[in-house]
Amino acid sequence: MDTAVMTTPAVLILLGPPGAGKGTQARMLEEKFGLVQLSTGDLLRAAVAAGTEAGKAAKAVMEAGDLVSDEIVINILRDRLAEPDCAKGVILDGFPRTTVQAQALDTLLAETGQKISAAVSLEVDDAAMVTRISGRYTCGNCGEGYHDSFKQPARDGVCDKCGGTEMKRRADDNAETVSSRLVAYHDQTAPLIAYYKDKGVLQSVDAMGEIDTIAGALAGIVEQAMK
Ligand SMILES: [Zn+2]
Repeated sequence: MDTAVMTTPAVLILLGPPGAGKGTQARMLEEKFGLVQLSTGDLLRAAVAAGTEAGKAAKAVMEAGDLVSDEIVINILRDRLAEPDCAKGVILDGFPRTTVQAQALDTLLAETGQKISAAVSLEVDDAAMVTRISGRYTCGNCGEGYHDSFKQPARDGVCDKCGGTEMKRRADDNAETVSSRLVAYHDQTAPLIAYYKDKGVLQSVDAMGEIDTIAGALAGIVEQAMK
């Protein structure tokens, strides 16, 4: 086979805590490179709706109130990866979550001679993330966004846009909740990061900068992966 025309689908794993901008970056990669973002929840719903073998198995388990096994998720993923829209590559979001799942994914990819192109860790500064997220609030009337540190209205408590005075904060955006979400994320992700570092495919991107800068770094990684 002529290697010059053969393209291997890129398989990217995107790791990042809530608030790191994972969704925005994944959409950018979809548009720029024709990749498809696959999240576990969407995959399961689609397989159940399509009534595939794996989808039927997942449906039975979910209806019984149980967690869908790694084996079922892998079978659903196998079906999905074979679809034509995944030819350029995929971005996996929310899978794998454990090193056991990561090993199962490696085995699955090996069936078709593929492997992980890169596991990208969106790195955040935890303290700065807490400030960033817990400082957010919006105008209850028009929805304009504000921030304690970065974007105060001209008059305290009065919306610049509509003059509304009812400011709202999301209950789960408080500092304590954001901190514990980050701790949980690091606990869960540390073994995966070690796993992919060992495999030599871990790439770290500073996710605290400008969205365009982060996007540029990710694009560089994907371009390398698609070579
Ligand atoms: Zn307003």
